Amino acid sequence: MDVILFGPPGAGKGTQAGRISDALSIPHVSTGDIFRYHLKQGTDLGTLARGYMDRGELVPDEVVFKLVADRLTQDDALGGILFDGFPRTVRQAELLADWLSTNGRGTGVVVNLDVPESILVPRLTGRRTCENKSCGAGYHLVFSPPVAHGVCDRCGGKLLQRKDDNEETALNRLDVYRSQTAPVLAWLRQHDAPVLDIDGTKAIDAVGNDIEEGLKAFSA
Ligand code: ADP
Ligand code: AMP
Repeated sequence: MDVILFGPPGAGKGTQAGRISDALSIPHVSTGDIFRYHLKQGTDLGTLARGYMDRGELVPDEVVFKLVADRLTQDDALGGILFDGFPRTVRQAELLADWLSTNGRGTGVVVNLDVPESILVPRLTGRRTCENKSCGAGYHLVFSPPVAHGVCDRCGGKLLQRKDDNEETALNRLDVYRSQTAPVLAWLRQHDAPVLDIDGTKAIDAVGNDIEEGLKAFSA
């Protein structure tokens, strides 16, 4: 089963992804994480993506889709993928739907994390992430703090703030979400994708429980 984890920046997609990926035994694919990996490695793709990411704009659709199509054909993705941060434009949704139908896969289930804009900026500016890629644990300075300031509870790694999680870029990312990404949800509903609407304002564990229960009902 393919699952699209949908919602604005800061909605809690990355926070919930590990639990869903474990429950369904499908790999978690975050297009943002893939771009950050390329940025760090200094690849051509990273160089291309850097300006867009720093400004809080979207990387062009064809570039993103090539990367996703490559990922979809890897062995571990044959039984489904958990998409996080993709599709982010109607064009990306169309490209994905074409690929899935050509390859005999259904539309996938959409998990829509509903969170009002007013709480997204503080979530983004307070986000911290473990520097170790093999860990990547996520924290929040206020809502989900580590035991020791600046240090990952799981692996002892240093906690970093993303460059695009400053207030100005976060506000721009929310504008981009409103104009280019929010319409994707309507498009998916129109194209008969099953949508599980989740209240993303609840505590992290409660959101995870709601998603798990909801997905059980879909797969039953
Ligand atoms: P996204 O991947 O959707 O951009 P994240 O999962 O990284 O968002 O969450 C953004 C920030 O909000 C993180 O610092 C995370 O710890 C925090 N967060 C996530 N879910 C919740 C929640 N339900 N309540 C409070 N804070 C949350
Ligand atoms: P995220 O980690 O999902 O917050 O994404 C960080 C940044 O990566 C975004 O602000 C975009 O610049 C870029 N990005 C990630 N996913 C996509 C996508 N599906 N389409 C276009 N740009 C993306």
